[in-house]
Amino acid sequence: MSISIISKDEDYSQWFNELVIKSDLAEHSAVRGCMVIKPYGYSIWEKMQAALDKMFKDTGHSNAYFPLFIPKSFFSKEASHVEGFAKECAVVTHYRLKNDAEGNIVVDEEAKLEEELIVRPTSETIIWNTYRGWIQSYRDLPLLINQWANVVRWEMRTRLFLRTTEFLWQEGHTAHATAEEAIAETEQMLDVYADFAENWLALPVVKGKKTANERFAGALDTYCIEALMQDGKALQAGTSHFLGQNFAKAFDVKFTSKEGKLDYVWATSWGVSTRLMGALIMAHSDDSGLVIPPKLAPVQVVAVPIYKHDEELQNITAFVKGLTKDLRAKNISIKFDDRDTQRPGFKFAEYELKGVPLRVAIGSRDMKNGTVELARRDTKTKETVPQEGLAERIESLLEEIQQNIYQKALKFRDENITPVDTYDEFKRLLDEKPGFLSAHWDGTSETEQRIKEETKATIRCIPLNNPQEEGKCILTGKPSTQRVLFARAY
Ligand code: AMP
Repeated sequence: MSISIISKDEDYSQWFNELVIKSDLAEHSAVRGCMVIKPYGYSIWEKMQAALDKMFKDTGHSNAYFPLFIPKSFFSKEASHVEGFAKECAVVTHYRLKNDAEGNIVVDEEAKLEEELIVRPTSETIIWNTYRGWIQSYRDLPLLINQWANVVRWEMRTRLFLRTTEFLWQEGHTAHATAEEAIAETEQMLDVYADFAENWLALPVVKGKKTANERFAGALDTYCIEALMQDGKALQAGTSHFLGQNFAKAFDVKFTSKEGKLDYVWATSWGVSTRLMGALIMAHSDDSGLVIPPKLAPVQVVAVPIYKHDEELQNITAFVKGLTKDLRAKNISIKFDDRDTQRPGFKFAEYELKGVPLRVAIGSRDMKNGTVELARRDTKTKETVPQEGLAERIESLLEEIQQNIYQKALKFRDENITPVDTYDEFKRLLDEKPGFLSAHWDGTSETEQRIKEETKATIRCIPLNNPQEEGKCILTGKPSTQRVLFARAY
């Protein structure tokens, strides 16, 4: 298989698909809209999980696990929740197959479930039904739970990692005694997500609130982190919801306060998914392949020997053994690719495609001179450096690469937030210079909807700490007090 991919300037969407497949992250499966995450892709996801899981635990949360199936009646208990998710639910109706007269396997109509089960698209309902038994008094609060799971949303238009029918995610579900506490939790988890995006994914994000149109079904407020991809489209990278007392009321979850008063419990939920893999790929990679920030790279350093005779290879191997030991002591992963079935040039291209942050090439002359050649994936620069102190140099270079990838994405993001004051300019820029467009909006759902229908751009968020500024809505000319961020989005 060729390891070259189409240029992202030529066809961004095809570039993304080819990149995911050729770099061995994932592939389409036999099931429409569902993907197979391959070992290389899954090892990046595992690194994301490990980092996030630690952040959740450091903020006091514990993991638990709830069922995959949700009785249909639970779903109907919270009206706006069911309305929001009804169109994308997979429903289990039977529990048995049988052989028909011709010997075909068919659904056994006699094995019809009395109550249908929904394959969870999100778990608020089953979890709040459970919390009723867990929460009686203020002493039981706050309840801070996270679940790592798969969920199913019957998406019509799917795309590898970004939008799949089944996806992997974590969902936090917390219960609190007061609205203030629940809002503080919602904001705290948004900060955790932003911190993770910036410090691990090297992805700058805008923190903000969704408009009523884009709010999670059943939430009073949805907070989000929004990122910009290299083609100027936005991606919602994570959400954190303040659910008020909606689910407590729907599932009758009450607690006795310190003062002996009975009240409904306040709720939050928050989630990020395998979509973050898509964000990682789309934000940093180039026409040679993946660019993975060192903190998430399954292999951080690859060593490639260049030799003619076995004796040279032996010398190089001995050197790499020593380097491996030094790097392991620093928690840095290194792979020694001494395959004799591929030439060095092929290996170089392969590791570029796979986004290994640093390549060490060692030839016979290097062994004589006490040097190696170091090549950075992010800048594609090479330098010859001494073997002495190499582990330390690699350690600091990896940190520099992590920073550089972030700074590059930050510069791109900042250059692509454009203030716009007229609807004509808004429409022109969406085609000519896509990105976030910062514009005045009259605050109504109707206006937002019309702009979406006419331009495919949506309000990505109302940034937190947004400066107040007098202005006029780009569509209706009605007064507005702040700019919001519009973009076409994934
Ligand atoms: P939500 O429960 O709708 O707030 O979504 C939680 C997180 O899952 C969001 O950050 C979304 O980016 C992500 N997400 C939603 N739908 C999908 C999907 N079909 N595939 C992958 N990720 C998704």
